[in-house]
Amino acid sequence: MVNILITDEIHKDAVEILKRVGEVEIATNLNKMELKRKIKDIDVIVIRSGTKLTRDILEHAKKLKIIARAGVGVDNIDIQYATEKGIIVVNSPDASSISVAELTMGLMLSAARNIPQATASLKRGEWDRKSFKGVELYGKTLGVIGLGRIGQQVVKRAKAFGMNIVGYDPYISEEVARSLGVKLLSDINELCKVSDFITLHVPLTPKTRHIIGREQISLMKKNVIIINCARGGLIDEKALYEALRNRKIRAAALDVFEEEPPKNNPLLTLDNVIGTPHQGASTEEAQKSAGIIVAEQVVKILRG
Ligand code: NAD
Repeated sequence: MVNILITDEIHKDAVEILKRVGEVEIATNLNKMELKRKIKDIDVIVIRSGTKLTRDILEHAKKLKIIARAGVGVDNIDIQYATEKGIIVVNSPDASSISVAELTMGLMLSAARNIPQATASLKRGEWDRKSFKGVELYGKTLGVIGLGRIGQQVVKRAKAFGMNIVGYDPYISEEVARSLGVKLLSDINELCKVSDFITLHVPLTPKTRHIIGREQISLMKKNVIIINCARGGLIDEKALYEALRNRKIRAAALDVFEEEPPKNNPLLTLDNVIGTPHQGASTEEAQKSAGIIVAEQVVKILRG
């Protein structure tokens, strides 16, 4: 009998698919010790971004064959070590692109128009029509860092708002950029200089860590708005905090943080920071499709 452990919440239809091929146990919010104990005897583990499969956890896996990540980012898995151990890692990169792109637009508009701050004020019983003056997206330059699945969906939506788009992605061709209507820049610093809004859509790797650092921020226009729905580690949060506090950066809209959940993160004390708790892929559609896609891959692999 194949033993399947699900450690982050996935869609019920995906659980049903997995039940056809094995004994399924759902155990969410496990601590490290519990995970180490449980991972010993299982063949398949199904996770989202909450479970961290680091080397010291995977060392305890005796018969693990498949890690199924319902979603895109695999930075919570030690892929190299998993590969060394002959464990197959599957994910569902396409399932959440639209959801993340839509949240990006939502956060962009929210930051531009101070919607969360105005809502909070309204609910406090105030009628303050002066404090929340915003800026339009129309006619502004949006810098998109990473023009993959999500970045491209953001481009399409931002164009509908009348934005001019510049992009930085060393791995996509001029042709693709042209077909998207994006001016491709060969240097991230150039993108920082010309953009009114900047949004990040690259994976977190040793190369992209702090891709937005002190230097990039110093080059940005005053009053730029930054949106990050990719990974917290892409931005140097200390440098971001300073630039937001001295209003060099007008606002930041963040779905992701260097440490999640954030603990005493000073960014969250600033009135020009708005955010969501890693909700990019949190839609009914994305969750259902991510779960089903990985469950089907697990079935396919198990049935050879
Ligand atoms: P993707 O692989 O389709 O696109 C990533 C793009 O980044 C690629 O085009 C790649 O060429 C480019 N890239 C890689 N290194 C780069 C670099 N150094 N500089 C510039 N560009 C670089 O991935 P995707 O599906 O668009 O997802 C992007 C990221 O979004 C994921 O890696 C994940 O971390 C994040 N994500 C977040 C959520 C959320 O809940 N907030 C959900 C899904 C994905």
